[in-house]
Amino acid sequence: KGKGLFGAVPLAHAFLRERVREGDRVVDATCGNGHDTAFLAELVGDAGTVWAFDIQEGALAATEARLAAAGYRGRAEFIPRGHEQLAAVVSGPVRAVVFNLGYLPGGEKETVTAAATTRAALEQAAALLLPGGIVTVAVYTGHPGGAEEGRVVEEWAAALPPARFNVWRCRQLNRPETAPYLVAVERVPA
Ligand code: SAM
Repeated sequence: KGKGLFGAVPLAHAFLRERVREGDRVVDATCGNGHDTAFLAELVGDAGTVWAFDIQEGALAATEARLAAAGYRGRAEFIPRGHEQLAAVVSGPVRAVVFNLGYLPGGEKETVTAAATTRAALEQAAALLLPGGIVTVAVYTGHPGGAEEGRVVEEWAAALPPARFNVWRCRQLNRPETAPYLVAVERVPA
């Protein structure tokens, strides 16, 4: 639909659409304006749950409004905490954890995801996954700190044991090196 697989987010959605089912428990680790949360809420249906994390009140309000408008308000839990506290909030197991790094489009650019907290959240996310579950990470390297964060995400992902995780870095070959890209970590199915 739309412009197809034009970037990291639509590619992440393709992976998610392929495996998230009605009744699933999933996490949006960076809900921002709520586009990913709404997409996940549609997939999990009324029997499922999406935990939506953000450290900006405005982001959580925008996400809640978007879900309410779509009729999905009851499918999400809004968590005003950093995703580095993921394991303290969600006891798992979950089918998917979605990260969309960087700053909120249209918001103030000082509030960005950061390498250390992103890494802590990724470790917890992988530990919560069901067999066949997936962590998707849309990585942006164009802003200050973005390149370092990307390196940390890749370092973490590259060290995961291949017997337990299938790990991908997906980059567009016909775009600049600074274009957003996707890191996807699938727990090997049982
Ligand atoms: N997925 C969102 C959407 O569809 O609109 C866009 C997310 S935006 C690129 C990144 C978001 O991460 C921002 O809203 C920011 O406030 C949030 N963020 C930054 N640090 C965070 C943290 N430690 N825990 C959770 N969210 C964080």
